[in-house]
Amino acid sequence: MNHLESLVQISQYYGTNPAYVIAGGGNTSYKNSEKLYIKASGISLSTIDTDGFVVMSRQHLGEMEDKAYSDDPVSREDEVKKDLKKAIISPEHLRPSVETSLHNLIDYAYIVHTHPTNVNALMCSNDAASEVEGRFGSEAIFVEYTDPGFILFKKLQSQVKEYVERNHESPKLIFLQNHGIFVGANTAREIKAIYDSVESRIRANRDLHLPQGEIEKISSEASIVIADYCKERGLVSSAFKTPLSEHFAVDREHYEKISKPFTPDIIVYCKSRYLFLEKEIGKDEILNRIEEFEKKNTYYPKVIVQEKVGLILVEENERSIQTVLEVFNDMMKISYLSEQFGGQHFMTPEQIAFIDNWEVENYRRSVAKAV
Ligand SMILES: [Zn+2]
Repeated sequence: MNHLESLVQISQYYGTNPAYVIAGGGNTSYKNSEKLYIKASGISLSTIDTDGFVVMSRQHLGEMEDKAYSDDPVSREDEVKKDLKKAIISPEHLRPSVETSLHNLIDYAYIVHTHPTNVNALMCSNDAASEVEGRFGSEAIFVEYTDPGFILFKKLQSQVKEYVERNHESPKLIFLQNHGIFVGANTAREIKAIYDSVESRIRANRDLHLPQGEIEKISSEASIVIADYCKERGLVSSAFKTPLSEHFAVDREHYEKISKPFTPDIIVYCKSRYLFLEKEIGKDEILNRIEEFEKKNTYYPKVIVQEKVGLILVEENERSIQTVLEVFNDMMKISYLSEQFGGQHFMTPEQIAFIDNWEVENYRRSVAKAV
């Protein structure tokens, strides 16, 4: 098997496993001394083929690393985006993953970046830094949450540099707070071995079992009211009960633990704010609350948690509802499991605002919808 075939195989291996990758999340790459083959933005790892990768010039990417870009975040990301485009060898019509520079930085042939549920249970917990230190010691780098894009690249660049000075090789394991993990190695087989060891080291001395059961489609008075309201606006809505919605919809206090996003990816698919409806409220009040929500946030609630009932999801079509369900269900798992590591550590309002306004993520969402 050649390197590109190996890359496709390992991409699909993690891409089809929901414990590692949900929706369009995660990205992978292969590089030699001249070229970097990186997953294109908006393409799903689960079905990716050789034509889903963008071939980039490593010389051009290297030139970007120490270039001075604008201090203004919007102009800076725009300049970076243009330089990234110039670094494309082929094909012109695809856009490389926003994490391309990170892949170029880590000096291994294969890089597999994912957002595994168990890793994120740790990354989105209050004890993330100390637990990584205790479980992985000097083997791993832990990167505190940083806005995605060039700022994150610069932070990682300096941490990787320090690591290389200390250990005389690139790090194979990079943990990103409130985000996920980068694993690098020179063979696909070693990548898998590292992922397996990460999984077992996170499980050590902790109970990472989740409540078991099926996801069921349900109907409630509120879900019917909301479905009618959606129809009038060309939207669709479905209601679900999952083992974890039973846990978090019990009352407002439990809901608080899933009331804010943990990672940028959650915002991409579910937005950053959700609506909680108390059990007893009537039809008019439900519609008032949705209208209030829309006025305040300028978008409709994609995720509505109804007390003692479950999740009512709103989207443009059934397929997108399924994606919101998968992503929000994963978010509930992360919240539940984070209790094993000191409890939930959400993104801050400033971090959330940055993602809400980020054009790159909007692009990813629109491509994912169009596929
Ligand atoms: Zn990511």
